Amino acid sequence: MTIEGSGPEVTDREHESSPELGDQAGADAGVSPSASRITRPAGSEPSAPSPNGAPGHEAEQTPGLSISLEQLRAFYGSNEAVRGVDLEFRANEVTAIIGPSGCGKSTLIRCINRMHEEIPGAQAEGRVMLEGLDVYDPSVDVVAVRRAIGMVFQKPNPFPTMSIFDNVAAGPRLTSSRRGDLRQTVESALRSAGLWDEVADRLDEPGAGLSGGQQQRLCIARSLAVDPDVILMDEPCSALDPIATLKIEELIDQLKRRVTIVIVTHNMQQAARVADRTAFMLDGRLVEVGPTQGIFTTPKDPRTEEYVTGKFG
Ligand code: ADP
Ligand code: MG
Repeated sequence: MTIEGSGPEVTDREHESSPELGDQAGADAGVSPSASRITRPAGSEPSAPSPNGAPGHEAEQTPGLSISLEQLRAFYGSNEAVRGVDLEFRANEVTAIIGPSGCGKSTLIRCINRMHEEIPGAQAEGRVMLEGLDVYDPSVDVVAVRRAIGMVFQKPNPFPTMSIFDNVAAGPRLTSSRRGDLRQTVESALRSAGLWDEVADRLDEPGAGLSGGQQQRLCIARSLAVDPDVILMDEPCSALDPIATLKIEELIDQLKRRVTIVIVTHNMQQAARVADRTAFMLDGRLVEVGPTQGIFTTPKDPRTEEYVTGKFG
């Protein structure tokens, strides 16, 4: 399948059909039905909500999708921070990315949901395939990409002036036509993020008033509310205390049933606890990737061994 050929084909057929038939068109073209929701109908505005923009109902939740990086390169001006990475993140697994500071972990994951290109002078090359669909294809709606591939940052970043409810409702308000279900969507996302019991009686209070760990779970709820396929987490626990960290780790274990998770972590024990597979990066390159236990106990590359045993220079 050539990407150039498949994108517009899916888009055109989706334009003519109902969302359900649009899904079928995606499947015909070899693109996952869920992945096809990031393409936009021909002629629409780039930021138009996708026809399948899901409101986050249990019944409509789709399992996670795989991501494949193919010769991904990322630049800041002439500085090449990611230097030709091939890497697969398997559906409904947790993949940890480890490596020394500055090796390109954050840059790499920001390329996955096209946030890298928002930085002035930054540029990416290669492909990022979401279950067969290139997220850099011209037919793809970049806003829909960021909905399908959510992101959680090191420092919790709830919308500071918004209430807890509005933080979670912000995404669905933009995408869902069924406003009547908003309360249910918000409750469901907060439950899935393990936060509902702590905030149910203060939904109208500011999100910024929560503890750091609660704010991070609020940010996870905010991503979940638009029914993502993938969640990228960039050192999500590094600003949290051990108990809050444990809660996020337990949450990750539950969430992988419904989304694919990529987590950057500096904490080797955390990678060992949460990740099915672990990728080790050095100087913008992937050194090796494999089942987490193997990476920590029998790494193939001596540089991985040096890093995981703490001997790294
Ligand atoms: P890591 O997350 O592994 O610590 P980063 O992806 O943040 O690494 O950084 C990789 C390289 O890209 C570093 O050399 C860093 O200085 C550079 N870099 C990161 N962010 C920017 C930016 N916004 N502008 C310019 N260079 C950047
Ligand atoms: Mg980083």
